[in-house]
Amino acid sequence: MKKTDRIVVAGAGGFIAGNLIKRLVGKGFTNIRAVDIKFIEQWYQTTDGVENVADCDLKEKDNCYRVCKGAVEVYNLAADMGGMGFIESHRAECMLSVLINTHMLMAARDVGKVERYFYASSACAYNTTLQTDAAVSALKESDAYPAMAEDGYGWEKLFSERMCRHFREDYGIQTRVARFHNVYGPFGTWDGGREKAPAAIWRKVLQAMDSGSGEIEIWGDGEQTRSFMYIDDCLKGVDMLTHGDFVDPLNIGSAELVSINQLVDYAEQIGKVKLKRKYNLGAPKGVRGRNSDNALIRKVFGWEPSTPLREGLAKTYAWITTQYETRKAGGKVVE
Ligand code: NAD
Repeated sequence: MKKTDRIVVAGAGGFIAGNLIKRLVGKGFTNIRAVDIKFIEQWYQTTDGVENVADCDLKEKDNCYRVCKGAVEVYNLAADMGGMGFIESHRAECMLSVLINTHMLMAARDVGKVERYFYASSACAYNTTLQTDAAVSALKESDAYPAMAEDGYGWEKLFSERMCRHFREDYGIQTRVARFHNVYGPFGTWDGGREKAPAAIWRKVLQAMDSGSGEIEIWGDGEQTRSFMYIDDCLKGVDMLTHGDFVDPLNIGSAELVSINQLVDYAEQIGKVKLKRKYNLGAPKGVRGRNSDNALIRKVFGWEPSTPLREGLAKTYAWITTQYETRKAGGKVVE
């Protein structure tokens, strides 16, 4: 790929795509078109030297055809999504993201010279009946079938994965699909209802310290387990997958399994604070346990995400703290 080839990044105002764009610019790519439905003021970050197309709904076919013109690579990271609190209460909205990937694939087929098309799927595509125990067996790629994905969001991901496969088989579009397992890091949402556990927990720790309440609310009994991948690992995995020859959906996730209670332990250690834990058993909690089986990614790329959770959290929490303090001082932040 030439540094001047056009790269289209969908969902650019969001967490992962915003960080991806910064990485691509850092690697010397000079023809990046960044697209998002949000107004530019709401993007988590923008990078100099990029063509930003804001207020652009990629559910609309015409918009996809317009932004994909001349594209050599397309990264589709646009989706209506959030943490469990959001996806459990916005199932139809999550499923409507199927229009984004459908129209982006059609545009890639019809108006670009697209050599690679990346699609961000999710561990929510996995069969939920395999995730009922906190002491989970890690999910390997074949565990998506027989299908019983997370209702709403997960089914959309599974369907869109499948669409990528058939566009490759029938039209020769070189699609690559990652199943991300919880990604965290700076420049992601940390308040407002779409945030995920690592960011939500730190915000609550900050609020507890600030108000002197000494208490933190935890969703569920805190024994549900997950793995969390630092953004730098995520982006490295996306690069390898997009430019490699492996064509099936692949886990990109950390295999460091922790319970939500352990995540709170880390947050307390980083904040040098001890809080009283109040468990909200009625809150959305998702599956009981989920981890990433990394045997396949190790085999394909000789690599797996490995940033220790404690280390990635420290960097992320430093960034959220700055945001929190800026907002408190009346400054403008994007949550
Ligand atoms: P995000 O919400 O920060 O970013 C998604 C972006 O897509 C947002 O800026 C949103 O405005 C944009 N978008 C939504 N609908 C759109 C539309 N109709 N047209 C144009 N833009 C639209 O999410 P993220 O964490 O950066 O996730 C990126 C991708 O990775 C998503 O597809 C998500 O499902 C997937 N994923 C993320 C995680 C994670 O832990 N963050 C885990 C699994 C999968």
